[in-house]
Amino acid sequence: MYNNEMLLKFKATSENESFARICISAFVASANPTMDEIGDIKTAVSEAVTNCVVHAYDNEVGDIEMYACINGDNIYISITDKGIGIEDINKAKEPFYTSKPSKERSGMGFTVMESFMDEVKISSQKGKGTKVEMYKSLGKDQNIACGV
Ligand code: ATP
Ligand code: MG
Repeated sequence: MYNNEMLLKFKATSENESFARICISAFVASANPTMDEIGDIKTAVSEAVTNCVVHAYDNEVGDIEMYACINGDNIYISITDKGIGIEDINKAKEPFYTSKPSKERSGMGFTVMESFMDEVKISSQKGKGTKVEMYKSLGKDQNIACGV
């Protein structure tokens, strides 16, 4: 049984999308995930962080907080911003819904997170910010573990 946790705070810039991906892969590596599992987690984190960069802050470069913990084979990740918030979460989760169609967004971010993680929970308050919580349990596929 392995337990660990981390908390990171960084600016909501597009450069930090790859920073967040690298950090989460390095962190979850200690739980012996498969390559596929690391890929799934990186993709989901990337979508959540990109959403903070693209949607959360209008005229400022705000902060993103990424928390993650490992409890045995279970991974929990939260991505939090203090931006504009989401008015209608159910609508935001619908495939192909985007509030920024003009900026070539496809509206698939939340759908991607839901398909790559076991569970995704979104909480948000207008004007206060958004928190995306994601859970994944490792070891459900048959691939050989590639842990560091
Ligand atoms: P894509 O992810 O395909 O580029 P998208 O970001 O518009 O497009 P989703 O990631 O599914 O699609 O998000 C749906 C909508 O939810 C967004 O268009 C936006 O209105 C809202 N949203 C998502 N994340 C946030 C956030 N952190 N703060 C404010 N609004 C958000
Ligand atoms: Mg998105």
